[in-house]
Amino acid sequence: MSSSLLTRTVIEQGELRAGLDSDFMEILDRAFSHEELSVADGERLLRAEGEELQALVGVADEVRRRRVGDIVTYVINRNLNFTNICVGSCKFCAFRRSPGDHDAYVLTLEQIAAKVREALAFGATEVCIQGGLHPDFELKNYLGILQTIRKISPDIHIHAFSPAELNHIAHREGMGVEEVIKTLRDAGLNSVPGTAAEILVDRVRSIICPRKITTDKWIDIVKTCHRLSLPTTATMLYGTVETLHERAEHLALIREIQHETWGFTEFVPLTFIPYNTPLWSDGERSPPSIVENLRVHAVARLMLAEYIDNIQTSWVKLGPQGAQLMLCAGANDLSGTLLEENITRAAGGERQVMMPEQLRELILQLGRTPMQRTTTYEFV
Ligand code: SF4
Repeated sequence: MSSSLLTRTVIEQGELRAGLDSDFMEILDRAFSHEELSVADGERLLRAEGEELQALVGVADEVRRRRVGDIVTYVINRNLNFTNICVGSCKFCAFRRSPGDHDAYVLTLEQIAAKVREALAFGATEVCIQGGLHPDFELKNYLGILQTIRKISPDIHIHAFSPAELNHIAHREGMGVEEVIKTLRDAGLNSVPGTAAEILVDRVRSIICPRKITTDKWIDIVKTCHRLSLPTTATMLYGTVETLHERAEHLALIREIQHETWGFTEFVPLTFIPYNTPLWSDGERSPPSIVENLRVHAVARLMLAEYIDNIQTSWVKLGPQGAQLMLCAGANDLSGTLLEENITRAAGGERQVMMPEQLRELILQLGRTPMQRTTTYEFV
């Protein structure tokens, strides 16, 4: 079956009429033929409306099925946000606090140890650790966290410290980032969350996170992690002030990095939850609509096809039903149990934990096969 015919078959299965815009169809055909989509292609797909949207979602779902089959993965993990004190000023963030704020906190090593023990008892294979950029935290504080966890478990996967945190440590210590990463790796760090990416376009960053690392710095740190055998995830925070073109640029940049390093394990689209954030106070705005979420997940699948197999959907951002929908639009991973979630909750998110049985049930309801995975996507 030719790719063009296959595309149309998918669309017909969705009971769509013929007669969609021919340029739009041509882009979907090329995606089916394993051709790399350009930024302009991605931007066009991100504008899909009505029947185009149904076609886009159908094709992304089919490309997902061909790449990774019907298995939907999830990880049993625990989130651990060790402090909310932060020198940053990101306008999309409702989590940060200043020293002295009544609800500012720093977890002690004993509290961290207790949370890790709880995670192990729960069957977690991963702890995901991130915090604010605390003005007084030095390398030894981050090493203390790793050593505390390693004393309790030599095996649990430590997925920790975003590129912004790694840069913060290097800056604080007057060290090179590479040296910082090596030191943390040698103390037990296994992989790094590809957060702090937001949108990797400096125009956007200068508005929403002017004091955070630049696009080039993020790329440099992530590539350094990959070179030092630390895999990372890749994320995209969408729905703040970026244009559709900038969203597509971000996806193309992630693809370019992957082409060079093959160090990304997954791509995670993160929808912006505005409540309680400075952007919300500047003028009320809504989170991206479900339609917009569908477009982003589907276009991520198509633009990253051949490069990143795992497209994650975040139940903590989208809710369980929203995440289920994204699994029908190109996503194949349902994230993790989390046990505790502070960052989205601060911005108005409702849920903090999902039991493994709940994740499996959501997947089974779609007629797909649930599979527990490790952080690096081996099946458990
Ligand atoms: S997103 Fe991170 S770096 Fe930015 S203000 Fe919030 S806690 Fe700080």
